[in-house]
Amino acid sequence: MRSICILGSTGSIGENTLDVVARHPDLYRVCALTANTQIEKLAKQCFKFHPDIAVVKDAELAKQLKNLLGDLKTEVLYGSSGLIAAVMHESVNTVMAAIVGAAGLLPTLQAAKAGKRILLANKEALVMAGPIFMDAVEKSGAELLPIDSEHNAIYQCLPQSQSSNKLNYPAYGVEELLLTASGGPFLRRAIETLDSVTPDEACAHPNWLMGRKISVDSATMMNKGLELIEAMWLFRVPENKIQIVIHPQSVIHSLVRYIDGSLLAQLGEPDMRTPIAYGLGWPHRIDSGVKKLDMMTLKDLNFMAADVNRYPAILLAREAARLKGTSPAILNAANEVALEYFLQKSIKYTQIIQVVDQVLQTVASQTATSLESILDADQLARTKAVNILQGLRS
Ligand code: NDP
Repeated sequence: MRSICILGSTGSIGENTLDVVARHPDLYRVCALTANTQIEKLAKQCFKFHPDIAVVKDAELAKQLKNLLGDLKTEVLYGSSGLIAAVMHESVNTVMAAIVGAAGLLPTLQAAKAGKRILLANKEALVMAGPIFMDAVEKSGAELLPIDSEHNAIYQCLPQSQSSNKLNYPAYGVEELLLTASGGPFLRRAIETLDSVTPDEACAHPNWLMGRKISVDSATMMNKGLELIEAMWLFRVPENKIQIVIHPQSVIHSLVRYIDGSLLAQLGEPDMRTPIAYGLGWPHRIDSGVKKLDMMTLKDLNFMAADVNRYPAILLAREAARLKGTSPAILNAANEVALEYFLQKSIKYTQIIQVVDQVLQTVASQTATSLESILDADQLARTKAVNILQGLRS
């Protein structure tokens, strides 16, 4: 039986994970659940899954959650020490890393250091601290299984003997990785009208139901940029060996090209329960509840290159990927801050990536020698982004 900690259980990935777990009570026990502020939702999950630990943002919310839980024997903790305690709980052997954004880095890294099995949805941990994270995984012998659907697809298309943290590119004949992208809700919208799109329009993804941050990232395609950096560290493949391909139907979740002319793809319904079930069941397969992809109803499968005039985020992400060091952390931090301003309707949609660009130009990239240097760069980029954003508002 696997004993699970779900970091970010009240989010989109968290809820999908609990959905899969609930289908297999004989295989999984929920040991820890964490949220930020959604305590009512967390309380409902606690009543259903009886975790040992539940974690929220701060002491006040912890008090409120305790009241909601009444006699339930769940210990309530809070803050970053609570998240670390959840990951480190002695009976936890599997951690679903599904906190959104940079906030997920420290507990996910802790899981890596502790040698747990990590189901990695929180791509920001690898984007910000790729080499440090992978080093921790290697040293502790942690099992790292990608949950992002594209990386999960690639993982499934790689030689299985090489899949677990040890891919030796190009020794196994891998020529390049192809990350597919839907193109988001504005694939065909006139570029001159992008200035006026609303947060709700940007969050209305054509194929996937996701949290608001990743939905906007999918619209700008910063999500694909972050995924490119994630893939670079995860599979140890240089940036120029990763292609981004727009595939509006989101049926093919990504591909691996081999030197012998083979192109291997993973197909399925756009439903995150498939990669989640893959990670939970690995190395076996378990039922996910996802409906079968009916080949007979598939009409067209289209592919096209991403237009960088429509998606300038790709250029910025590629540049950060090439520079390495603290550049990816700066890119990620600036994007998180600017995107939040857009969601609050304080700036235009097109200004998100303009702000990221300005921050990248003004905050110098350093060698990422330690976690501290990455966290410093993250803070510096956030401060710079806020300065720029305040200027735009006034
Ligand atoms: P959501 O916004 O739906 O959920 C985020 C979760 O993180 C919630 O449980 C939230 O708690 C918690 N959280 C937010 N901020 C903090 C914080 N500062 N400290 C602790 N916990 C926090 O996000 P998603 O589920 O969409 O995405 C989660 C991660 O998975 C992201 O990194 C995303 O890129 C990645 N991912 C998501 C996919 C998807 O389909 N959704 C697909 C592939 C990757 P609360 O509910 O209380 O706010």
